[in-house]
Amino acid sequence: MSQTSLTPITGPSAPNFFGMSRERLRAHVEGMGVPAFRAEQVYSWVYQKHVRTPLDMTNLPLAFREALPGICDLELPETASVHKSPDGNTHKFVIRLADGARVESVSMRTPKRLTFCISSQVGCALKCSFCATGLMGLKRNLKAHEIVAQVVAMGEFHGWQDDRFNIVFMGMGEPLANMEAVTETIRILHDENGLNLGARRLTVSTSGLVPQIRELTKLKLQVGLAISLHATTDALRDELVPVNKRWPIAELLDAAQEYGRTIGRRTTLEYTLLGGVNDSLEDADRLASIARSMPSKVNIIPYNPVPGLDWKRPSKEAIDRFVERLLPKAPAVTVRHTQGGDIWAACGQLGGLS
Ligand code: SAH
Ligand code: SF4
Repeated sequence: MSQTSLTPITGPSAPNFFGMSRERLRAHVEGMGVPAFRAEQVYSWVYQKHVRTPLDMTNLPLAFREALPGICDLELPETASVHKSPDGNTHKFVIRLADGARVESVSMRTPKRLTFCISSQVGCALKCSFCATGLMGLKRNLKAHEIVAQVVAMGEFHGWQDDRFNIVFMGMGEPLANMEAVTETIRILHDENGLNLGARRLTVSTSGLVPQIRELTKLKLQVGLAISLHATTDALRDELVPVNKRWPIAELLDAAQEYGRTIGRRTTLEYTLLGGVNDSLEDADRLASIARSMPSKVNIIPYNPVPGLDWKRPSKEAIDRFVERLLPKAPAVTVRHTQGGDIWAACGQLGGLS
């Protein structure tokens, strides 16, 4: 490595490290006249030793450490605020991106695991009728580095104490409407020389973009799939999840089933319970029969009120009644209890940002 080959590019034009797969970083440094193994070293410093400050990467030549900020940008976007739930187990992060757009990410600790809930878009175009993000409309897709950065920011916040954490794409946005950045993110998170997150630790949630589910099936990324069902008849789902008019329930279930069969995992059926809307015993029976028709688990999410929307969260009794009806008939059911009050409520219905 010669000094001259490392003419630093000035700050902002250096590509962002967090959007680069290891292969891309290798090619990038090689293009700058640096041997590819330097890329491997940087990758391991950042993702395995959790060191982002070039000068602290002590096994790299000093000249390379000094040139590194001009080769790739290792800065994270600003965490504008962190809100902690009263029980201390849930944190909501507001991340301010370079163009001023803001997204939210949530970390949730349960006795078993730490889960990071990440956003894939600023806003969302799909306008599900009970979702705060949908109210915003789509502002823009996130880039891969803006998605990976959410994980790194939360990991740093928690001091990387947990090397075992799960990631769910259940923050702002429809991940399958931003396929390229989301699949690149998944590859980066999977990398065995990076964070090395096994596919079992990742779940993508979709409102039901059937062609993209089929595309994901072909990619064989092995990540878990959650589908936002929310209704058991097309008439109701057309109202709650407008994308149903394009790809109705039968088509969605068929695509989800094929995905599950291909990767050998159960599909999660998400069901947001709206008082007086989809919480009858007949709804529970229909949901149970859908759940039995394919390898699946049901995740009941009692509606979290969104200011300005008229939907009602069902009473505790109504939730219990629905779940008790479902439990003996469905293969597996979990209820997302409101942990951390409003903050936990943020994961899955983000976007209440002024
Ligand atoms: N866009 C993706 C993932 C993000 S939302 C999707 O729609 O699947 C994660 C889950 O929270 C989805 O099932 C979504 O429908 C649900 N959700 C959105 N707003 C909600 C609210 N106010 N209360 C309860 N669940 C909500
Ligand atoms: Fe978009 Fe998901 Fe909200 Fe629907 S529920 S508007 S797909 S973020």
